[in-house]
Amino acid sequence: MNILFTASECVPFVKTGGLADVVGSLAPVLARQGHDVRVMLPLYTNIAQEWQQKMQFVLHFDVQLGWRRQYCGVLMLKREGVTYYFLDNKYYFGRPYIYGLGGDEYERYGFFCRAVLNALPLIEFHPAILHAHDWQSGMVPALLKIQYAHLPFYSDIRSLFTIHNLQYQGIFGIREVQDVLGLGDGLWSSDKLECYGCANFMKAGLVYADAISTVSPSYAEEITTAYYGERLDGLIRARKDTLYGVLNGIDTAEYDPQNDPLIYAPFSRDDLSGKAENKRRLQAELGLDVNPDIPLIAMVGRLTNQKGLDLVDCVLGEMMGENMQLAVLGMGDARYTNLFSWAETQYKGRIAARFAMDNGLAHKLYAGADFFLMPSLFEPCGLSQLIAMRYGTVPIVRETGGLRDTVLSYNEYNHVGNGFTFLNYNAHDMLTVIRRALGFYHGDRPVLEALQKRGMEADYSWAHSARDYVAIYEKLTTAI
Ligand code: ADP
Repeated sequence: MNILFTASECVPFVKTGGLADVVGSLAPVLARQGHDVRVMLPLYTNIAQEWQQKMQFVLHFDVQLGWRRQYCGVLMLKREGVTYYFLDNKYYFGRPYIYGLGGDEYERYGFFCRAVLNALPLIEFHPAILHAHDWQSGMVPALLKIQYAHLPFYSDIRSLFTIHNLQYQGIFGIREVQDVLGLGDGLWSSDKLECYGCANFMKAGLVYADAISTVSPSYAEEITTAYYGERLDGLIRARKDTLYGVLNGIDTAEYDPQNDPLIYAPFSRDDLSGKAENKRRLQAELGLDVNPDIPLIAMVGRLTNQKGLDLVDCVLGEMMGENMQLAVLGMGDARYTNLFSWAETQYKGRIAARFAMDNGLAHKLYAGADFFLMPSLFEPCGLSQLIAMRYGTVPIVRETGGLRDTVLSYNEYNHVGNGFTFLNYNAHDMLTVIRRALGFYHGDRPVLEALQKRGMEADYSWAHSARDYVAIYEKLTTAI
């Protein structure tokens, strides 16, 4: 099957979060199954030179955006059976940031969505499925249906739109979006593109894609409710018949404790001695007290409210009353960088915080920590807990979204489970569960080892989920 992915980020080229991991690891799996998978991405200037040098120029064309006429170059790179196309326009993507700062995101990603569709006949690739990811690609299914579907080349292309995070929707003024994409006044009613008086790229994808999906079964359920629905729950309920929840996998070759050049020492389920070495060297590198008997809890992720950091803020003093260490790696809101900077000096040798995008250190934390804390307010899937479990690091999570689908709390009576969980978004519920986990560390290590091994032997690969996506693609294309 010919499959086109469109996304704003993709490993190994450009990454700010889990979206990049998903696009970059799912595409090669589908290619290995025999599909012709191509991925279209913006050519950001901050994609590493190492990759840019490997790209080949294919062709260029002009994109009409209202009164603007903009250059679009197409560069290509083949990797692991996947063809990647990079859409080049220095005005939109030649900036020192990926998202946010210019105030013209609607124009940048409006350009991207329009250019994706215009490029297809020129590069002579006719996809059966156009799989668009997150709001930056939301206008692709919408433009396809509204402005392109009557053209023979496009008429049989079916679209799937995947929500990786419903919180980020791409909300802009209607006039601005009209000015770029030429969508007439008749399209701006609430059953089409209008959304609470604004334009909304996420909503556009949700309304016009032939099917929609999100990245875990639980999140698919949750976003039909007002609590998780981010004001789009009504629309999502209306589309429930074509809403799928497909759990993300991880790249098990990149995250492999037996063969990971980024960690200090390899280890496996059957020989965890290397994990102790990872912990010792991590403690030393982070300036924590080097002591194998103090449990080390790690957090890796964006420092935003979504990740449950206000719960940590609320009970940090009580947490540090326990015999434990905390290591945090992330970038994000000043509220949390200030909190952890302060905490690092307040609890010297017991808390370490690094505010950077540092893949090497992330791997070292997954490998060296005893526990991984992820008390998210909501979590579409969450990859970090999967990565942590693969490295024998026991997750402590809130039962929400993909965390609920992947972490089962340890049950002392029948000994099932692979981590520790709590349900209510409540700091002291979290604290109680942290204390419970620490209790096993200090008092009943064999239980923790069983949880570690269970986590390490589970299958987090894309095998199942890739099959689920193909089943959706087949359903869409046979319904023609
Ligand atoms: P989200 O997509 O909400 O940010 P996920 O758990 O789905 O969260 O994916 C986050 C991914 O980004 C994981 O691979 C995680 O290891 C990585 N990551 C997050 N913050 C950092 C950071 N500061 N340095 C390195 N990797 C990070």
